[in-house]
Amino acid sequence: MALGCEGLLTLTIKMRVSPEPSLFKELVSLMKRYREGLNHVIGFVIESKALSLGKAHKLLYSVLKERYGLPSKVAQDCYREAIAIAKSWLGNPNRGRVPRAKTPRLWLTHGYSYRVRDGYVEVLGGFRLRIIGWDKRYYAYPSGDARLILKDGKFILCISKSVPRPVKYVVRGVLAADVNEKHIVVGNSQYEYRFETAVEKALHYKHLAEELQKKCSSPKYNAWLRRRGVRDRIRYFHRRARSIIRDWVKKTSHKIASLAKQHLYAVAKEDLTNLVESLRKLPKEHRVSLLILSYRKLEHWIDWQCEKNGAPLIVVEPRGTSTTCPMCSSKLIENGYRRLRCSRCGFEADRDTVAVLNIEKRALVQMWGALTPLNAPQVTDVAPNR
Ligand SMILES: [Zn+2]
Repeated sequence: MALGCEGLLTLTIKMRVSPEPSLFKELVSLMKRYREGLNHVIGFVIESKALSLGKAHKLLYSVLKERYGLPSKVAQDCYREAIAIAKSWLGNPNRGRVPRAKTPRLWLTHGYSYRVRDGYVEVLGGFRLRIIGWDKRYYAYPSGDARLILKDGKFILCISKSVPRPVKYVVRGVLAADVNEKHIVVGNSQYEYRFETAVEKALHYKHLAEELQKKCSSPKYNAWLRRRGVRDRIRYFHRRARSIIRDWVKKTSHKIASLAKQHLYAVAKEDLTNLVESLRKLPKEHRVSLLILSYRKLEHWIDWQCEKNGAPLIVVEPRGTSTTCPMCSSKLIENGYRRLRCSRCGFEADRDTVAVLNIEKRALVQMWGALTPLNAPQVTDVAPNR
């Protein structure tokens, strides 16, 4: 195995920053104009297919300068960002509405629009922002473009950094992860860990939002929409639900990758693409939308955490993982709530344990090519249905 660096990873570091009070208003006004300009340009670029910088410059530069009052460099950053957003939206087969920037912001080109020095960030246009708190782990690595956003009254600077991709370690086994609505079960023929998903907890906030909305709307017109306090509260509940899922996914994928690294396991999981696709066809309920969010984020974050920890990731075909006997490959039959039994070899386990063992088995075959014998798990060690 090659030693040293295997290319680069791009990650984003975030820092709280605070502008000098005398320039506060001016900066906020610039960021708001940038947002308006950006939204205008995104719509325009998508409609007119002006996806090249040259075209965008010709058609939009003067509009951004005159109508939105953006300085030249900021105007350039603005259509560059708009083109990037438009391209990624057009490339997404499941795209919804045209994306819109919601928070006041500024895109900052590296080496030109901003620099970090002596505990301050200097932004083109004479703004100086004091750094309040940040994660210094990746400070020494080369910086890329950055984004300054204003969220809930706080200024956050997100800088992209290029760090060396950790070398993948030599694996000794597989840590399989199986996810369902209630649990994510992680393990192999020797261990099993269960983490509850955050869907229920997030759902609670979705219901709060719904109740409030019902309470405040009359059949004639949406009174709640007119009452800012109520509307903000409803939005807060929805946001809270999403952030619960996001936090859970980040925390859990970090746990999985660290566990794998500690034991020198490869991480194996099912390909969730088809699962997400079939969920999309269901009626748009809160539970379904939270599940789609969880699975999509999990795909992304497990992949990312594995890269960061040098853990090899193996994605296996999901068909039949929870219905096939992991010992003899016969079809399992139901034997009580979420319990399955093999009529041929007598193997019996909880549905999630079955899935974990099958994912492990498929990953081992994928990794080492040959079928490796699995030790039968000691069923008494696992707590079925928790
Ligand atoms: Zn069997």
